[in-house]
Amino acid sequence: MDVSYILDDLNDAQRDAVTADSTGTLVLAGAGSGKTRVLVHRIAWKIKVEGLSAYSILAVTFTNKAAREMRGRIEALLDGNVNHGMWVGTFHGLAHRLLKAHAREAGLPDNFQILDSDDQLRQLKRIHRELELDDTRWPPRQSQYFINGHKDEGRRSAHIDDFGGDHYLSTMLKVYRRYEEVCRQQGVIDFAELLLRALELWRDNPAILDHYQQRFKHVLVDEFQDTNAVQYAWLRLLTSKGMAMTAVGDDDQSIYGWRGARIENIQQFSKDIPNTQIVRLEQNYRSTGTILKAANALIANNSQRMGKELWTKGEDGDKIALFAAFNEQDEARFVTDRIDELLRDDYRRSDIGVLYRSNAQSRVLEEYLIRAGVPYRIYGGQRFYDRLEIKNALAYLRIIALRDDDTAIERVINTPTRGIGNRTVEILREYARQHQLSLWRSAVAIIENGMLPARAGNALRSFLSLIEDLSAQCQDLPLDEQVSITIDKSGLIAFHEKEKGEKAQARVENLQELITAARGYSSEDEEAEPLRAFLDQAALDAGDQQADEHEDSVQLMTLHSAKGLEFPAVFIVGVEENLFPHKMSMEDPERLEEERRLAYVGITRAEQKLYLSYAESRRLHGQESFNSLSRFVREIPNELIDEVRINNTVTRPSSYAQSTTTSQQAAAASIGFGLGQRVLHSIFGAGVVISFEGQGASARVQVNFEDEGSKWLVLQYANLQLL
Ligand code: ATP
Ligand code: MG
Repeated sequence: MDVSYILDDLNDAQRDAVTADSTGTLVLAGAGSGKTRVLVHRIAWKIKVEGLSAYSILAVTFTNKAAREMRGRIEALLDGNVNHGMWVGTFHGLAHRLLKAHAREAGLPDNFQILDSDDQLRQLKRIHRELELDDTRWPPRQSQYFINGHKDEGRRSAHIDDFGGDHYLSTMLKVYRRYEEVCRQQGVIDFAELLLRALELWRDNPAILDHYQQRFKHVLVDEFQDTNAVQYAWLRLLTSKGMAMTAVGDDDQSIYGWRGARIENIQQFSKDIPNTQIVRLEQNYRSTGTILKAANALIANNSQRMGKELWTKGEDGDKIALFAAFNEQDEARFVTDRIDELLRDDYRRSDIGVLYRSNAQSRVLEEYLIRAGVPYRIYGGQRFYDRLEIKNALAYLRIIALRDDDTAIERVINTPTRGIGNRTVEILREYARQHQLSLWRSAVAIIENGMLPARAGNALRSFLSLIEDLSAQCQDLPLDEQVSITIDKSGLIAFHEKEKGEKAQARVENLQELITAARGYSSEDEEAEPLRAFLDQAALDAGDQQADEHEDSVQLMTLHSAKGLEFPAVFIVGVEENLFPHKMSMEDPERLEEERRLAYVGITRAEQKLYLSYAESRRLHGQESFNSLSRFVREIPNELIDEVRINNTVTRPSSYAQSTTTSQQAAAASIGFGLGQRVLHSIFGAGVVISFEGQGASARVQVNFEDEGSKWLVLQYANLQLL
């Protein structure tokens, strides 16, 4: 049997990894060096050459999509020979499968249900109500964060000490305990619980563990750097009797520290499995020389590294395009124009990935892509107008525009929670049905008739007056102010602000982003009432079918969800200080390094073309900010970067500025330097010129100082030195 084809398309180091017969095999290598490919070929090798049955292989991938791809590739390598019985999936998927098979032993009913993260939150809301915890002081999302964080570390409520009654801890513990109880009663199980339960199943049932230890002779794990404590313990338990384990990973791509991932698992691995063979891969097959050099230079700025360099035999290729946009609209226009160019150059839409740091950034991009008629897909995330917090905010606006909008009322009558319970809503619905009235009119009538108990009646009355007040305040205001007042006075912002965690932060940002959307909105129909027209447009945007998985479409996603993927052309937008690196990470050296790893992940997704863009001024989350170019771009050697010039702009060395207005160009010319020029001020230090005004003696210049933020200075007194 000729099996050499399994090794044909591999380099020597990859072959070593594929054929290694060590118990522990650890492939530590940078992006695009073929780690995932090694995993696939190693499985084929084990089956074809070493005669292992597919049944005895367990492979863990990072996403379900990756699992499907892995199956497909193995099948292709095995010449269509079915890889029957092999377990390939994500940690969550595999845990689910295990628990289904042994529900009773795991203490679960046969038909247990999975609680997704929204369901989990709803459950916690009910518990908060039951425990009479005020949502504004104890946001349910904070409890969710607390519970999941502990579960990721393997801790149940019984394992947590409240240090003799610390108020915060004992309250959280009360919620955690009640939550465990309710989940047990209802037979439901959340994501973190899946993993923990699977671990406990094996730990507490030696016979079951033994069965799987007999079965799985080889365990393989992709993206190993992002496994958390429970996941690693689960792998170790399975392989503790000397089964083989192969893990591939890249410490430079560890980007889930904030969610409990433990990079230390890499060191732990070779300690736990004696004689682990470590293979390093250094040849990159994905990206051009230029892109690789940029990635190498960037990541060299991190101090905590295992250290490795990537090289490629490939061409240097195009330089990295850097575009300084005037603002976020200009940036979106740039991206859409370049996409158009790529498509004319015979790139397929799915060859193009557009990556951003925070979810809210997708809105402007979506707007321009829709306008340009380019099908796109948001991968691993929701489109802006489909997001829960945005739908809630729009519901308030819809009620302001039209009281009889029953769907909108149903949606937010008790969001944020204001003591209007299911019973009240039931009574409303019933009244509406009997009298053929809208919910709003029914509510008014019910209050007038005094049909509700005092507490419920008061709660309902204050909802009605909230809407009436909002409506009065919004009268004749510009659209964006209407939105701003609404998200504020409705309590939506405060509600999410009090929650903890990245997701809550994102919700606040998205809400504020809606203000920006409203400000930028102008109806083509001048007669139309602005709020109404805006709402209609939002509904249309939301209803616009997201391109389905099979349609060729441009791929939009956060940098986090781009891990493991590759695209011939990649855009990374918003490469600005405060945005990327994210402002919450800038103070903490460790989090800053995690941000840099994220930048490394982003850059190394690109095969041929990489476009970076930043905006001199950006409206995001409803606020205008002036950020300077991200340090991550400044860490890339200049000679690898090509500054894109679109209009005739002030041309100056090291000026990143683009598309200035003519009056600004005139001002710039009279002053002698351009937008984007780096300057030094004797008191404020170094900064970047971001705007001009006036000429001659009255000329003023706006500089965004690295330490002091942005300031206007009168040019003739400022005494700026060019850098
Ligand atoms: P990441 O760290 O981003 O997950 P990776 O190390 O898993 O990257 P792969 O995705 O396995 O890298 O490989 C990157 C690209 O290089 C893929 O398109 C793969 O098919 C190709 N490739 C890997 N090894 C070789 C090889 N020896 N010859 C030709 N192409 C290769
Ligand atoms: Mg990979």
